[in-house]
Amino acid sequence: MYQLHCLRDRLGLATTVLEAADGVGGTWYWNRYPGARCDSESHSYCYGFSPELLDEWDWSERYPQQPEILRYLNHVADRFNLRPDIRFNTRVSAARYDEATNLWHVTTTSGETLTATYLITAVGCLSSANVPNIPGLPDFQGQWYHTGQWPHGGVDFTGKRVGQIGTGSTGIQAAPVIAAQAAHLTVFQRTANYSVPAHNAPLTPEFRAWVHSHQDEIRAVMKSTTNGHPFRIAERNVADVSPAERDALYEAAWAKGGLQFRATFKDLLTNKAANDTAADFLKAKIRSIVRNPATAAILADIDHPYAAKRPPIDDNYFDTFNRPNVSLVDLRRTPIERITATGIRTAEADYPLDIIVFATGFDAMTGPLFALGLTGRNGLALRDAWRAGPETYLGLGIPGFPNLFTITGPGSPSVLANMPVAIEQHVEWITDCIAHLRANHIATIEATPEAATAWSNQVDAAANATLLPQAGHSWYLGANVPGKPRRFMPYAGGMAHYRDICTEVATEGYKGLVMAKS
Ligand code: NAP
Repeated sequence: MYQLHCLRDRLGLATTVLEAADGVGGTWYWNRYPGARCDSESHSYCYGFSPELLDEWDWSERYPQQPEILRYLNHVADRFNLRPDIRFNTRVSAARYDEATNLWHVTTTSGETLTATYLITAVGCLSSANVPNIPGLPDFQGQWYHTGQWPHGGVDFTGKRVGQIGTGSTGIQAAPVIAAQAAHLTVFQRTANYSVPAHNAPLTPEFRAWVHSHQDEIRAVMKSTTNGHPFRIAERNVADVSPAERDALYEAAWAKGGLQFRATFKDLLTNKAANDTAADFLKAKIRSIVRNPATAAILADIDHPYAAKRPPIDDNYFDTFNRPNVSLVDLRRTPIERITATGIRTAEADYPLDIIVFATGFDAMTGPLFALGLTGRNGLALRDAWRAGPETYLGLGIPGFPNLFTITGPGSPSVLANMPVAIEQHVEWITDCIAHLRANHIATIEATPEAATAWSNQVDAAANATLLPQAGHSWYLGANVPGKPRRFMPYAGGMAHYRDICTEVATEGYKGLVMAKS
């Protein structure tokens, strides 16, 4: 939506957005599962480009719920009069660069073809649902849903026996809400996960007033930090303080709640010994909350460093396992064998179920781009170009795909940052780049293979300088989708640093990109 606003209203370009859904909102249109809310704090999970928009919108809670975010995005669509240039219910099936005309030919599933000088993908990083290929699913006589494709009318769990597969950020949000309604909830856990309480609460009038009067300050912090959040990462290392001080700091961070826990020490993501102290603290919290020691042991049997996978935050997730109507199945010990007509069968038992909830994540980052059926120069399909994993220049451009820009593509900070910050930076860079092309009568711009390889090596190096690749099963690596090449996809060098790199690339004449007049 911001890209449409920039191209249409700032550059005056005829711009059309193709949107598969029948409304705006993207992630927040599709992810309507119980408990869906954002893990970024509301006052930072919004556009910053318009002071008027910042002034006029008030968030109700510390972490906004999906319906509130969707209301906000609809407000943005109306406020900037975006709907007339969005074609809803329009799904792209193929997009092909035509060298003869230097145009992109974009085909929709209804068979229509549109042409465009510039093609910009804004398909999100987490929009291709990953429904695991578990044998027997078609036999299941109950209902099943993926959290990322949730029915708009909601799902009534009253009196139902529900099985939930998946304990990532989504599953950890959904389980407490489902458990409160269902007759019984069985959580099928493959990889145990850390979680820190969100301590969500309504925002006080004082806090809202403070936000409105400190927007510049808040935005300055968001722009200067690694993850684009409105808080700074502590300057200290774990070893700088005594064990007693360290644990007091963790207690304070736990009491405050949220993703900020990760910012307690600056070396939590780079030093395994430092990380172990946070991991031990969080595992002890699980054991102190969950009353059944066997259940607590399964939940606390976490095999990766804290925050090496995207760290969830929760509303009473671990306490949910103290409810009499909730049970936990350890899939590491007893894997799912198949889905039957009546439920889920593991190596050890049959679990009769009325509803199965797949909180099993997404074919992240590359999946949504592959779904567009992109074909660049010389008939090169993106799927073939990225057979060994994605290679981009800055996550913005791909060699062999002229005049194609990817918003929050692989190789950009994207999912490692507060998304609106990452999105706005990309949109503004792309807008400036297209303005430059037009002002200088440049017909094509394209990342060079050398620049993309060099950048991809930097993406690898940035990840390897952290503990992030140590979670070998994470979707950051593509490891959650069978057959997907393992390459760490987001840029882990930090949003602020990345912004500087992109600015330098532009000010130095778009180095790493070839521009041609015709
Ligand atoms: P996810 O992090 O990929 O978690 C998927 C879960 O499903 C994992 O526990 C995974 O286990 C499990 N799973 C996948 N396939 C399975 C199979 N065949 N059998 C058993 N278990 C299986 O997905 P997600 O929770 O939807 O979250 C994805 C991302 O979306 C998050 O990391 C975050 O970036 C974003 N998100 C954000 C928010 C927010 O801001 N509030 C909320 C939700 C999601 P393994 O770990 O063993 O693979």
